Amino acid sequence: MSNSIETPQLPEMSELWQKTLNWQPSNGELSQFQLLYELICQGNRQLNLTRITEPTDFWEKHLWDSLRGISRFLGKTELDCRTGILPVIPNPQVIDIGTGAGFPGVPIAITQPNWQVTLLDSTRKKLTFLDSLISELELKNATTLTGRAEELGKQSQYREVYDIAVIRAVGSALVCAEYALPFLKVGGLAILYRGNWTEEEAVDLRSTLLSLGGAIELIDPFTTPISNSIRHCLHLRKVAVIEPGKKVKFPK
Ligand code: SAM
Repeated sequence: MSNSIETPQLPEMSELWQKTLNWQPSNGELSQFQLLYELICQGNRQLNLTRITEPTDFWEKHLWDSLRGISRFLGKTELDCRTGILPVIPNPQVIDIGTGAGFPGVPIAITQPNWQVTLLDSTRKKLTFLDSLISELELKNATTLTGRAEELGKQSQYREVYDIAVIRAVGSALVCAEYALPFLKVGGLAILYRGNWTEEEAVDLRSTLLSLGGAIELIDPFTTPISNSIRHCLHLRKVAVIEPGKKVKFPK
């Protein structure tokens, strides 16, 4: 990809990273973020990838927001999931469902090089772009997968093989849970990136979660550091085996 039109520099925001996530990107990660931004701006000229292209907006709504969802793991060399359910595993398998232009999956792959990140989307042309972006960023731990989440989640090749599923801006919380939970091993974690969140949504979700083998582990509210928008991340734990068309099996 050639960059004939100059892309602006992203702000570094060292203090904000530190203050809000208790973490700071390395110089290598900052260079990767800048290259990611340039590639997305270039890709936007051919494809409708994102409307968020102003540097500070891109920093907050794509980079910071993607990493806020996994902030409990940032800077940790191994999966720090000491809940008693998921053992510490060195190379977790992660799936980003409905990744679009690569969010939150690509910033996650950049900052968590030992996580194996699959970027899933139903739109082939976005993934063709992401294949090229992965190669330009030299990300050895990211691959793409084309298909519909509700179909792939039923196939044995993908069903119950992932440790973490992330999903942002794909549908209601219930739909996101229905897409994400089939991909997870028992003990795995689904992180649903949500905007505002109400108790009514929680009631709706709780009543269906059991049939999906999931349970709400954490509702994590926060405000974004520049525009002060309200966001929530829902952490759902896969607690039971689900076989399509059969009753939920809880581990003994
Ligand atoms: N996650 C990205 C983000 O937050 O910037 C993209 C969000 S975009 C609004 C929704 C994406 O989900 C689109 O790229 C769309 O193609 C994809 N998508 C929607 N339904 C899907 C499904 N059932 N299976 C796989 N991908 C889906």
